[in-house]
Amino acid sequence: TPVPDYLEEILSSCAHETSGALADYIPELANVDPDQLAVAVCTTNGSLYCAGDADNAFTIQSISKAFVYALALQEHGVDAVVKRIGVEPSGEPFNELSLEAGSGRPLNPMINAGALTCHALIGGPDCDPDERFEKVRQGLSAFADRELDVDEAVFESELADAYRNSAIANMLRSYGVIDGDPADVVRGYTRQCSLRVTTRDLARMAATLAHGGVQPATGERVVDTDVVRQVLSVMMTCGMYDAAGDWMTSCGFPAKSGVSGGILGALSGQVGLATFSPRLDDHGNSVRGITLCRRLSRDMGLHIMNSP
Ligand code: GLU
Repeated sequence: TPVPDYLEEILSSCAHETSGALADYIPELANVDPDQLAVAVCTTNGSLYCAGDADNAFTIQSISKAFVYALALQEHGVDAVVKRIGVEPSGEPFNELSLEAGSGRPLNPMINAGALTCHALIGGPDCDPDERFEKVRQGLSAFADRELDVDEAVFESELADAYRNSAIANMLRSYGVIDGDPADVVRGYTRQCSLRVTTRDLARMAATLAHGGVQPATGERVVDTDVVRQVLSVMMTCGMYDAAGDWMTSCGFPAKSGVSGGILGALSGQVGLATFSPRLDDHGNSVRGITLCRRLSRDMGLHIMNSP
């Protein structure tokens, strides 16, 4: 079967599925069309195939965490970042107020404590907050090979209600994990989560990871190979909220999901892929996204534990 027909077929096989619910803790996210459905696959030589609503825009949310982690690693080096942010799965909700006992580090960069810390690392402690956000925006745009912009309505909607993330940022500041004004970090992180992407963009960003940090279309090296290895490892163990074990056994490739319904996956040397469907399961992962990723894993042999 040609790839486009195959992608159409897997979309129609799960189109009827309507279980799950929209994220509503950010009021604007509850206003989206729940029936949107898309899949995109981008090879490491830059060929992109997509089906469904692959050009519909949505906010990147937690998927940004993987890429800002990459940017922090690239800027400061793996060792320096690991001193600040651990790499252990937490088994806790993404917005838990928790730090590792003893070291005081956030457990990993995929929970909010770690992601806020990552954001604060960009540009160093003396960087102006707007300049820091601009570095983040440009960095993610380089992965996507397209200038990304902010969905201001989602940004305002989340910031107006960011009590939990403010609490986490204040805790990080009081333990000396971040410097500067915690409110600036929350604002910048919330803007980062409000960057607008399409499923097509996510597949390109994923392909840059799969291609060892080089954007397949532009040939630009965005991050180094040791950075990519670190990011994909943490995605493998911590990328799917508290369903990491279930994901590992059923899909078995590094991935990151977000509350707006996106899932991004990358298999080193092979392919980047992305799915989008806004209804979420109890773990916060897209219901139809998971179904699509299982199909892709099985049909394309993407599980990293597959026998040769
Ligand atoms: N902006 C969201 C938050 O920090 C990201 C959540 C997510 O996608 O998991 O609450």
